Amino acid sequence: MNKKFNHLIDMDDYTVSHWNAIIGLAQDIMRRPDSYSDKCSGRIMATLFYEPSTRTQMSFQAAMIRLGGSIIGFDNPSNSSVAKGENLKDTIKIVSSYSDILVMRHTSEGSARAAALAADCPVINAGDGGHLHPTQTLTDLLTLKTELGRLDNLTVGLCGDLKYGRTVHSLLKALSCYPNNKFILISTESLSLPSYIKDVLSARGCEFREVRTIDEAMPELDMLYMTRIQRERFDSEEEYKRQKDVYKLTPAKMRLAKKEMIVMHPLPRVNEIEVEVDDDPRAAYFRQALNGMYVRMALILTTLNNEPSCKPLLTGVIHKDVCCSNKKCVTQTELYLPHSFRKFGDILICEYCDERILL
Ligand code: ASP
Repeated sequence: MNKKFNHLIDMDDYTVSHWNAIIGLAQDIMRRPDSYSDKCSGRIMATLFYEPSTRTQMSFQAAMIRLGGSIIGFDNPSNSSVAKGENLKDTIKIVSSYSDILVMRHTSEGSARAAALAADCPVINAGDGGHLHPTQTLTDLLTLKTELGRLDNLTVGLCGDLKYGRTVHSLLKALSCYPNNKFILISTESLSLPSYIKDVLSARGCEFREVRTIDEAMPELDMLYMTRIQRERFDSEEEYKRQKDVYKLTPAKMRLAKKEMIVMHPLPRVNEIEVEVDDDPRAAYFRQALNGMYVRMALILTTLNNEPSCKPLLTGVIHKDVCCSNKKCVTQTELYLPHSFRKFGDILICEYCDERILL
C-alpha cells in the first residue's frame, strides 16, 4: 500500500475550504513575495512533462525557484528512459524518490492517479490528456477572486472545445461547488461537454444550458471562458478542420457584454480571440497566466507543509475482467494497474478516467 501524501489529482480531492485557503495564501504571496522567498529552501520539485507546455511548466518551475527550492525533470520524454520503454510506474517510483514533490503532465487520461499510486512523494496533476487540469482551475479561481471579488453568484459562459478541454472540466467541477453559479455552455454539438461533467452539475443543482453562439450568451455573462480547439485530441485531421475557427471573439462581440464582465482563457490562444481584444481592459487572460505562478507557489507550500488530507486514491471495486472502454485511458497502456471502478446504478465508472461502462 502506498503512503499517504497531499496529491492533487482532481479538484474533488479537496474541499472548498481547502481551495479558499490556497487562494487566500496566493493573494498574500502576491502582496508580500519577499516573505516567502526561502520557504522551500533545500526542497526539490520534479516536473515531468510528457506533453508540450509553456505556462504550466514554467510557472511551476518559477514558483519553486521563487520559494527558494530547486527543480529537476524533463519536458521531452524521448530524452529519458521512457524512450527505452520504461513504464510510468517505474519512472515515477524513481523520480519521486529523488524529489519532495512531483508535477506531471501526460497524454493518457487518468495517468495522474496512476502516477500517484506509484509515488513516494505528493503528485500534482498538471493535465492528464483531455481529462482534468486542476492547477489551471486554481489559477482560474484566483483570477475570478482577484478580478471580480467573488466565486459565487456568477454567470459563466464556457466556449469552444468543451469535449476535450480539460481546463473546462476541472473548472466546472470547482465552480459548481460555490452557491448560485450558472453556466452557459457554448459549443458545437460534437464538441459539447461530456455527460459525466453534466451529471456533476445536475447533482449539485446548478443551472446550465447549451447554446451554439457567443452572441446569445454574451449580455448575461460575468465571465467568458474561451478555449482552444484541442487539435491533438481529435481522431482525424478532417474532424478538427470542421471544428476549428467556429468561434471567434472580436471587439464587436465584446460590445454585447457587460462593462464589468471579464474574458479568461487558459492559453495558448490559436484563433479564437482576435488580438484587438487584448487592449480591452476586460481581457484578463494575461493577468490570469501570471496568477498561475502565485497560486502554484501557494499550492506547493500547502502540499509540502500540511498533514495529508486528500481523499484515498482508489475507493472503488477491482474488476479484473472488466476493461475501461476509453482508448485514451491510462489502463490501456499501463497494464499492471488494478482495474478499479465506482458503481453507479447499472454503470461502472473507471476510477482513472471517469469513463462510464454499461454492465
Ligand atoms: N494550457 C491548457 C491545457 O494544458 C489549455 C490548452 O492547451 O488549450 O490544457
